[in-house]
Amino acid sequence: MSVTPDPVLWLATARYDIASAPGSLGLVQDLLNTISAGAPRQPDLLDDLASATDWAHDATARWSTVTGRPAPDVALDPAGLRTLRIVRDELRDGIHARVHGRPESGQPGASERTPSGSRTAGATLRLDQDGAVHLDPAGAGVDLLISLVLAELYEAHLTDLGRRIKTCRNPRCQVAFYDRSRNNSGVWHSVRVCGLPTNLRAHRARQRQAD
Ligand SMILES: [Zn+2]
Repeated sequence: MSVTPDPVLWLATARYDIASAPGSLGLVQDLLNTISAGAPRQPDLLDDLASATDWAHDATARWSTVTGRPAPDVALDPAGLRTLRIVRDELRDGIHARVHGRPESGQPGASERTPSGSRTAGATLRLDQDGAVHLDPAGAGVDLLISLVLAELYEAHLTDLGRRIKTCRNPRCQVAFYDRSRNNSGVWHSVRVCGLPTNLRAHRARQRQAD
């Protein structure tokens, strides 16, 4: 009899009571879910160096558990934390634009940031003894963490799983979820928490206009 291992609990994502993305892709989702969201409001885990360091330590340890590879040392300093916050926001903006389109300026969720498309991170291509090629994250500190996250997302796109990482359509929420629907049509992190109330508000607004 095979024993199914417990799903890995990614701490930032678990705060929003949703399932994690499969395998090491959970790291990408967990970085996105360090944001402050939910009700009651959860803190932003990247707000200060202490909580960001705790999160990075925990997330890389989980990544190591999932992949069976050594946990990378991703020590953060204040400059590294600033960079990590920017990368998280760029990642969220990019995914949000892919899934929901780019919000118009002035609309909730509209970004002050100019999408530059120029975020880069180092990585190494490694040929193994079976002739397969692997993408190994490279760098030190926050650069290594960013390389790790982008390498996970890249590999997920190769297997077409990357497009299932989404941010909630509710602009006041933006929690990152992994869409397990058959046709990849989900737009809410939770239909109950964000989908139904938003649709009800829109319905009432349309009724008021009709009256
Ligand atoms: Zn939501």
